[in-house]
Amino acid sequence: MRTKQQYIEGLKKMRRNIYVNGQKIDRTDELQMDCINTIGLTFDMAEKPENKDLCTATSHLTGKVINRFCHVHQNKEDLHKKQDMTRMLCRAVGGCIQRCMGIDGTNALYAASYEADKENSGKTEYHKNFKKWLERFQNEDLVGCCAQTDVKGHRMRRPSEQEDPDLYLRVVERKSEGVVVRGCKVHNSEASVADEILVVPTRALKADEKDWAIAFAIPADWEGIKQVVSIHNLRPRKHFPRGFTPGATDSYTIFDNVLIPWDRVFLCGETLHGGACALLFALFHRHSYSGCKPAIGDLLLGTAALIAECNGIQKAPHVREKLSEFIMVTELGYAAGFTASELGSNQLYVPGMGKTPYGPGNYIPDSIYANVGRCLTGEAVYHEMEMLCDLAGGVPATFPYEGDFINPETKDLLNKYIMRNPDISAENSAQLWRYVADLLCSASSGVAAVGGYHGGGSPIMEQIAITSQYDIEARKAMVRRLAGIKD
Ligand SMILES: Cc1cc2nc3c(=O)[nH]c(=O)nc-3n(C[C@H](O)[C@H](O)[C@H](O)COP(=O)(O)OP(=O)(O)OC[C@H]3O[C@@H](n4cnc5c(N)ncnc54)[C@H](O)[C@@H]3O)c2cc1C
Repeated sequence: MRTKQQYIEGLKKMRRNIYVNGQKIDRTDELQMDCINTIGLTFDMAEKPENKDLCTATSHLTGKVINRFCHVHQNKEDLHKKQDMTRMLCRAVGGCIQRCMGIDGTNALYAASYEADKENSGKTEYHKNFKKWLERFQNEDLVGCCAQTDVKGHRMRRPSEQEDPDLYLRVVERKSEGVVVRGCKVHNSEASVADEILVVPTRALKADEKDWAIAFAIPADWEGIKQVVSIHNLRPRKHFPRGFTPGATDSYTIFDNVLIPWDRVFLCGETLHGGACALLFALFHRHSYSGCKPAIGDLLLGTAALIAECNGIQKAPHVREKLSEFIMVTELGYAAGFTASELGSNQLYVPGMGKTPYGPGNYIPDSIYANVGRCLTGEAVYHEMEMLCDLAGGVPATFPYEGDFINPETKDLLNKYIMRNPDISAENSAQLWRYVADLLCSASSGVAAVGGYHGGGSPIMEQIAITSQYDIEARKAMVRRLAGIKD
C-alpha cells in the first residue's frame, strides 16, 4: 500500500491537463491541497493497525493486503465493511471522503466486463484485461474516480437522437491499436486528483446505440484529455484553524478524440451490458451513500446539539424534535445500507428477468434497500439544512471575520457581545459559529447540498429503480384477497 506522501509524489509527475478559471495548474497546486489532504486520509488511516479490518482487505486476485478502496467485494462482510469504512472516514474529514467513486466503478466493471465476454462467446477479452488493470490498480494503491454522467444535451432525447452525437461520450473510430472516443463527462468528482478515470455509460442503451456502449479506464492525464475543474475549498483560516479542513473538486472531463488502447477497453458495443454497467455503478454508489450520508448526519446532529447548548435552548421541545429527526434520517439511511449489504449477493435486477446472477461471483448490494436509503436521505438534505438554520438563528450568516477577533480595537468587544450561554466561553462559541458558517453558508456547503441531493442519481432515478423492481403486483393481490375482490 502507498503512503499519502507517495500518492502526492505520483500526482506531481502527471502531465499538466488541469484548467482552473483560465489557468493551467499543477495537480499539487495549493488550490487542490485540501482535496488531496482529504483523500490522503484514506492512506493514513489504512496504515493504522486499529483500522486494518475496516480500511484494508485481502485481494482475491493476489492474496495481498490492499486498501479497501481498491477491493472487489467478495461477500456480505465486504459490503458491510465498505459502508462502515465510508462512515468512519467521512466523520473524520467532516464530509465526503472522495475515494468511493473508484471502488464503485471498479466493482461495476468487474461484473459487466465478465458478462460481456460471456455474451461474445470468448471473442472478446474484456474481463481478462480488466483483471490485469485491477491487479496494477490494487498493487500500486491507485486512486480511481468514475466518469459516468454525460452532458446529455436535450433531456428528452436519447444519445442517438441528439443534434450533436458527442453529447454522450461515444466511439468515433475503431483502430487496430484501440478505440478513439469523443465527448465530455461532467461533475466528475476528484478526477483532478485521481490517478485513473473509470468511464462507464450513463444510461440504458438501445441495440442501435452501440457507439455509446463504451467503458474503459485511463490515466487521468492521458493524451487528449482536458479537465476543466471547479474547486470547493472553505474560506481559508489564518488565526483560528479548524481541526480538519476538507476540500473537493469536480471536473468537466473532456475527451477530444482520445485513443484508448484495447487492453484498457472493457465494453465496446455491448449495449445490454453498457446499460447494466450504468445501473451497477449507480447501485454501488448508492450503497456507498449509506455510509457517507449517515456520517454527515452524525456531524449535523452534533452541530445542532452544540448550537442548542450555545444558545441555551437545549431543553426546548422543538430542539428535541429536530435532534430526533436528524437521528431518524441518519439511522434509517444506515439501516437501509446495512440491509442492502446483508441481502447482497452475486445477483443483479435485470428488467424483465428479475434478480439474475451477474458477474463472476462478486457481491452486489440489494437494489431496493440501496435505492430507498439513498432516496430518503438525499431528499432530506435541504430539510436538514433548514433545521440547522432554524436552530442557529442568523449568526452564522453575519459572523465577523477572524481578524476582528485579533484586532485589539474590536477583540474584547466582540468576545463580550457574542456571549450567550455563560458555561461556554466566547472563544469556543466563536469557533463553533465559524464551523456552522462553513456548514450552512459557504460556497462549499452549497455544492455539498446539491451533491447530497443529486450525487449517485437524482431522487427521480431512485424512484424509477424502486417502482420498477418492487413487486407491486404482489401487494395488489394481497389487497384483492383482503377486500374480497374476485378477479
Ligand atoms: C457534487 C456532485 C458530484 C457528482 N459526482 C459525480 C461523479 O463523480 N461521477 C459521475 O458520473 N457523476 C457525478 N455526479 C452527477 C450526478 O449523478 C448527476 O448530477 C445526477 O445523475 C443528475 O444528472 P444531471 O445533473 O445531468 O441532472 P438532470 O438529469 O439534467 O436533471 C435535471 C432535471 O431534469 C429532469 N430530467 C432529466 N431527464 C429527464 C427526462 N428524460 N424526462 C423528464 N425529466 C428529466 C430531472 O428529473 C431533473 O428534475 C455528481 C453530481 C454532483 C452535483
